[in-house]
Amino acid sequence: MTDIPNLEILVIGAGMNGGAMACALAQAGFEVGVVERQAPLLTWDDSDYDPRVSALTHASRNLLRNLSAWPAMRAERVATYDAMHVWDANGEGRIHFDAAEIGEPDLGHIVENRVTTKALWLRLQREANVISIDTDSLQSFRRDGRWMHVELGSGRQLRCELIIGADGAKSRVRQLAAIGANGWNYDQHAVVTTVQTEKPHQATAWQRFMPTGPLALLPLDQPHYSSIVWSTHPEHAEELLALPEDAFLQQLTSASETVLGRALACSRRAAFPLRLSHARDYVAPGLALIGDAAHTVHPLAGQGVNLGFLDVAELSRVLSDARKRRRPLGDLLTLRKYERARKADNLAMQAGMDAFKRLFSNANPLLRGIRDAGMNLTDRATPLKHRIMRHALGDRGDAPLLKHRSTP
Ligand SMILES: Cc1cc2nc3c(=O)[nH]c(=O)nc-3n(C[C@H](O)[C@H](O)[C@H](O)COP(=O)(O)OP(=O)(O)OC[C@H]3O[C@@H](n4cnc5c(N)ncnc54)[C@H](O)[C@@H]3O)c2cc1C
Repeated sequence: MTDIPNLEILVIGAGMNGGAMACALAQAGFEVGVVERQAPLLTWDDSDYDPRVSALTHASRNLLRNLSAWPAMRAERVATYDAMHVWDANGEGRIHFDAAEIGEPDLGHIVENRVTTKALWLRLQREANVISIDTDSLQSFRRDGRWMHVELGSGRQLRCELIIGADGAKSRVRQLAAIGANGWNYDQHAVVTTVQTEKPHQATAWQRFMPTGPLALLPLDQPHYSSIVWSTHPEHAEELLALPEDAFLQQLTSASETVLGRALACSRRAAFPLRLSHARDYVAPGLALIGDAAHTVHPLAGQGVNLGFLDVAELSRVLSDARKRRRPLGDLLTLRKYERARKADNLAMQAGMDAFKRLFSNANPLLRGIRDAGMNLTDRATPLKHRIMRHALGDRGDAPLLKHRSTP
């Protein structure tokens, strides 16, 4: 029994990746449904920042522009950063990235996650070919020939040709499809909050690597406000959450080596366990996984959602191509094109971040010497440094949604 019209594609999850995926498909003319378990967050107190922010690359900004979500995000609140300074707490290694070195006006943007999800959700509401269902969730599905029969938690049922799992790290889509995931827990939790600092952040992202994990201070739109991501072992994270504000600020000031002077105030604190995971398959007949449902990565280089947006751009291209060729959307051969295009890139980024995390967690003096020499050498080796910067900006992949267009 069907109580929602047949759809071509059903996206499960309207986080940043699911929202972008649904927008991209709607824009390409597909009949799309999107199911989100939570009520979308559309209003909040502007005097407070969301402690969950993401550093968005140029490629991600291009995608959001091409999906017409960027102007609404800018109108809400977007910070721009043009430099990044990384240093080793236990040695002499340091490296400074400046946008001007590669002739760019900036290195990217720091955006509250709620700003991105809201802009995408509101964008979806303007499309006639989208059905968006919130406060409901995927319960089960079964495949029957060309169709996927889906049942939601509310008991509503529908049919579609393709399910896209954008339902995060604990993806129910992935579990129901019995797709295993490789990975491990990092023995670290990330403590996040917004801090007011004595000195201005100078539109620079600061990151200090300690043996217990990195501390990042990400610049917000006001010069004395930064969002922090402090990765540390779980017991320390718990302690940091439980400390009275004054004591927390003291620890933060000392962990940041007063790079922005004293930490003066902070907002509510939260912690997230960190895990590396990678789905063995991104696709199955009638089904594809994107974003955290397919892969999670250590946040130390702020790449998680940026990788997801590259998935969105590629899957959107593959599906548009399939339609032109009159291929069924859930066809495994078609979907494998998406998997082939994205898996190697995601794995390489995961491996790189994992190696970084291990290298800096190691207090061995010999390794410390090598890592400091490596950082200082990279800082001076202009072509290598520029290549790293271009890669981190997401300058790869040639899907049309990633192309720069001179729109706002
Ligand atoms: C501390 C920290 C800092 C980070 N910093 C950065 C950064 O600077 N840059 C960056 O690129 N990345 C960063 N990341 C990673 C980034 O936050 C994630 O990669 C990104 O949020 C994943 O988005 P998603 O849409 O794939 O999944 P999610 O954000 O998990 O969204 C999944 C959505 O699916 C919904 N859902 C789940 N199950 C169901 C169901 N059964 N039915 C219906 N709906 C369902 C959920 O309610 C949710 O809205 C960071 C991560 C952490 C933990």
